[in-house]
Amino acid sequence: MSLAPDLERKAGIAGSSPIRHDWTRAEVRALLEMPFPDLMFEAQRLHRLYFDPREVQISTLLSIKTGGCPEDCAYCPQSARYDTGVKAEKLMPLEQVLADARAAKAGGAQRFCMGAAWRSPKDRDLDKVCAMIEGVKALGMETCVTLGMLTGPQARRLKDAGLDYYNHNLDTSPEYYEKIITTRCYQDRLDTLEAVRGAGIHVCCGGIVGMGETLDDRAGMIQTLASLPEHPESVPINLLVQVEGTPVSLGQKTEPLDFIRVIAAARIAMPASVVRLSAGREDMSEETQTLCFLAGANSIFYGPKLLTTPNPARDRDMLLLDKLGMRPMSA
Ligand code: SF4
Repeated sequence: MSLAPDLERKAGIAGSSPIRHDWTRAEVRALLEMPFPDLMFEAQRLHRLYFDPREVQISTLLSIKTGGCPEDCAYCPQSARYDTGVKAEKLMPLEQVLADARAAKAGGAQRFCMGAAWRSPKDRDLDKVCAMIEGVKALGMETCVTLGMLTGPQARRLKDAGLDYYNHNLDTSPEYYEKIITTRCYQDRLDTLEAVRGAGIHVCCGGIVGMGETLDDRAGMIQTLASLPEHPESVPINLLVQVEGTPVSLGQKTEPLDFIRVIAAARIAMPASVVRLSAGREDMSEETQTLCFLAGANSIFYGPKLLTTPNPARDRDMLLLDKLGMRPMSA
């Protein structure tokens, strides 16, 4: 990715951008294994080149179509294949979505993300989602949707409706992917990302830590993200929320410091991207979240629910930002 010249000037690195697309897996793995103080220092150094370290981008995520998904993602309570207690619902009506978006805006969210549990959207669904995007844009918020796999023409329709971001995660390394999902392949993900880029929509793409993957898989995930022709503008790093009934619910819990290392490695490999501390915050201590911010995370989801799993309450988040002398990023 070539960085916007104004950002390069601001960072004082015009002509010597640290944005790289040629990371090797061994290099990313070496980051994950660095002495912690050195890793944090390097993550902070790069974070401060591109961002104000006191600012956190705030998004709110709404599930506009919950459950009943035909895919078999081993971590997901919305897959129809697992008995997790999540009931399949129809696509939410437009007015309800807009009411939620208004509430999110009033609560301080800058971006409104809408998620639908589909393998890929049908054209008639897309009409309804386009109306939601137009309605949320009219409120003065940024929009993001995650709807599954997209074709090029579908991505262009979303762009025409005013979509700012499309979320489509790579989840894990190319090798580990088939252990987690069998109903589609890694190349399908990359094809959708290409369709989204081709339509001129910003890319939100990251992964999940804690599904039984090795250190090498974590490195492979970050290396793949950082090797995309353009780095995703937004990189959500999720800590697995173990939901009973899903195949990966019984694995070992991830050590907080290991999770923080992944955040730091993502920050270093993609220094100009917004790195989102995404799912899993509900179970994190304030100290762990703080170390995630110091490692370069500068975005959170705000609101009591993340699709179907719990998320810290807004007040708790604002109190933590206050304690840290941090603040929401302005649009
Ligand atoms: S992660 Fe998305 S595609 Fe996979 S089962 Fe859940 S809703 Fe479906």
